[in-house]
Amino acid sequence: MRNSASLDGGALLNLVDIATEKLDDYLPLITREQADKLRDLSERLKGHRILHVNATPYGGGVSELLRSALALQRGLGLAVDWRVIAGETKFFEVTKRFHNALQGAPYALPEEDRDTYLLQNSFNAHQFGHDYDLVIIHDPQPVPLLQMHGRGDAKWVWRCHIDTSEPNRAVLDFLKPYIDEYDALIFTLDKFVPDDLRDHKIKLIPPGIDPLSPKNFDLTPEQCRRIMSWVGVDPSRPVLTQVSRFDPWKDPLGVIRIFRETRKQVPGLQLALLGSMALDDPEAWDLMAEIREESDGDDDILVSTNLTGIGNMEVNVFQRSSDVVVQKSIREGFGLIVSETLWKGTSMVAGNTGGIPIQMPEGTGGYLVDPHDEEMMAERTVELLRDPALREQLGAAGREVVRENFLITRYVIDELELLADLANV
Ligand code: UDP
Repeated sequence: MRNSASLDGGALLNLVDIATEKLDDYLPLITREQADKLRDLSERLKGHRILHVNATPYGGGVSELLRSALALQRGLGLAVDWRVIAGETKFFEVTKRFHNALQGAPYALPEEDRDTYLLQNSFNAHQFGHDYDLVIIHDPQPVPLLQMHGRGDAKWVWRCHIDTSEPNRAVLDFLKPYIDEYDALIFTLDKFVPDDLRDHKIKLIPPGIDPLSPKNFDLTPEQCRRIMSWVGVDPSRPVLTQVSRFDPWKDPLGVIRIFRETRKQVPGLQLALLGSMALDDPEAWDLMAEIREESDGDDDILVSTNLTGIGNMEVNVFQRSSDVVVQKSIREGFGLIVSETLWKGTSMVAGNTGGIPIQMPEGTGGYLVDPHDEEMMAERTVELLRDPALREQLGAAGREVVRENFLITRYVIDELELLADLANV
């Protein structure tokens, strides 16, 4: 008999559309061994119904990762769905506080926030009227779904995408009983696994990027030039870019300070600060207002978002054609943005934090710098801007690191291996 989560009717969690990507299209980019593994795993998991649940269908790395990983899984013939939880602004304000706290921010977890979180999760658990064999719950927002809904006969996995190396105790202690119910946990790096969760079945899986997606596929220099000037930068002058959600951990205001320091030594330099507004990130609006205030009247700074025309293609162009891309993260679960940029052979100055250093081993990709040391970040940015040959060399080495380690195909293999293990196939 087939295992399944039990059903209880009612309105359902919203389904997100998933494309289908064929394995054949990836074959020129991966090894034969990887292709064989993907075929073997998908054969073993055929007939199992797999569900991923997260908080938002767009904006941020998790939705990016799901969109490409699940398209390839569908292309492999797997029965995989993606659903998002429901929630109002108040709930997502609370979960953003949880997110920040799990990355180390101080937070006392007031009673009211607990209630908001549990009430919405209980509502979502009642919408979980679905029949699946393997359920993967992403990040802190939906953690209690398993306990509140009941496991049925399905196996449940919690996938943590954030840097939980120094978690706020109040939030971790509050979530722990819910996390303890899961059959397995996935973290990006070993150092993110909190000590009191180490007795669980744990798999370490860094994310990966989809080389075939509109965000990453090749574009001609002419297309890039036209899109850059359409968005509002002058392609004949040097461009420094950061592409990130408007989130304090990505420190966009710090990027403006670095840009101003760098511009003193690289006249004509422009800054593109591109951000996306995610459904589960209400904090972003306040930060965007601060960024606008800070950059107001400075014609060399472009601030733009998904709401004003920055889609996948535009991000692709800026990652490909900027002279240097900066990622001034203070905390970073992985930073898909880094692999995306390096895949295009563009060199970076990035915060030496969380998942970023594994993407930029010494001598590849660019410079890793203590993100609090803005003077050094500016210095390294000037160095790269002045040395096109060095940029090219570091960028090319960065692309190879991504090809070998951070493509979506490797990610899908790691994830399916865990699912096959849990399903005992
Ligand atoms: N992103 C985007 N448009 C933006 C800003 C970000 O499409 O204006 C995408 C970016 O390309 C990447 C993802 O959002 O795919 C961010 O993922 P990352 O892991 O770097 O950070 P997160 O937002 O998950 O903290």
